[in-house]
Amino acid sequence: MISGEKIIEILVSIGDKIEENKVYLTELDASIGDGDHGLNMSKGFLAVKEALKDVDSKNIGGILKKAGMALVSHVGGASGPLYGTAFMKAAVIVNDKESVGIDDFINILKAAIDGVVMRGKAQEGDKTMLDAIMPAYRAGKASREEGKACSEVLEAVSNAALKGAENTEKIAAKKGRASYLGDRSIGHKDPGAVSASIMLKTIYDCLK
Ligand code: ADP
Ligand code: MG
Repeated sequence: MISGEKIIEILVSIGDKIEENKVYLTELDASIGDGDHGLNMSKGFLAVKEALKDVDSKNIGGILKKAGMALVSHVGGASGPLYGTAFMKAAVIVNDKESVGIDDFINILKAAIDGVVMRGKAQEGDKTMLDAIMPAYRAGKASREEGKACSEVLEAVSNAALKGAENTEKIAAKKGRASYLGDRSIGHKDPGAVSASIMLKTIYDCLK
């Protein structure tokens, strides 16, 4: 089982990875959007780090809720409210839990997807962050149902997210700023799908 302390550590690591990839994410967004995704995510996760300094580590739902609220209120771009809603929906699943396991994680992914869909009305195949998170969720669920060990489940999630993000290169955007480009968005990876895959890979790297 994973403690709240560990969850905080993972969120801080995600912030570090986002920081490392800030320029890359911004370049991806410069090709098909307005070139601020790296900046938005960096700003958002710095706010998350700040917000978690005085959080009660015994309530994992509280940790995720605080992180979500920090993202919603500190990021100007579309990704802030979308990721923020994902975290806040995930928080509900683990409210008052002191520790979480792999089944909680799968349920968190599902709740996060529902939050993003509720807020942004996109579907899989629209070239958004969902194209990383949805296949990741399915891979994790399938791996869990096959009775795989936790680290293998997390690896399956991470790999499927990376593959999903890669695949966004082949499709045209139907939601978000990139949709203004239509077919001209083909040939570029979706920045949000890439940031989502970075987050899910960081979770695996922190827990394997
Ligand atoms: P903005 O588009 O406002 O500049 P960002 O650049 O930070 O915000 O984020 C862009 C990313 O947000 C996209 O790459 C995409 O993955 C995601 N996104 C945009 N609109 C939606 C939506 N309706 N549903 C899900 N994800 C979306
Ligand atoms: Mg942008």
